[in-house]
Amino acid sequence: MKPECSINDCHTDSEVRGWCRTHYSRWQRHGDPMYLLPEAKDVECSVNDCHKPGRARGWCKKHYGRWFRHGDTGKRTPTNDEYRELLHMKPVDDGFWNQVVACQKERLWV
Ligand SMILES: [Zn+2]
Ligand SMILES: [Zn+2]
Repeated sequence: MKPECSINDCHTDSEVRGWCRTHYSRWQRHGDPMYLLPEAKDVECSVNDCHKPGRARGWCKKHYGRWFRHGDTGKRTPTNDEYRELLHMKPVDDGFWNQVVACQKERLWV
């Protein structure tokens, strides 16, 4: 049996340099086996009871897509303040939305 990865709390078998594959590839890519991808420490989707990582506007991909298509994030009705904010913000960021749509078409929007 191989020794465990030397990272605290990681109990995967070590493969290279005393690290498991995950930690080793992190070290290779980022020079730090403990490096966290920016999205990994990112906020959760701000929709109630949704704990997916927030991708755009603080919403996960699903809720963002809903808002993008329907103007709201789903069953939850936005408060008047939120709704006003959404209406107010949408035109401001049109360039960004177009980019997002372009990315979605190219399947780069993960
Ligand atoms: Zn590890
Ligand atoms: Zn969500």
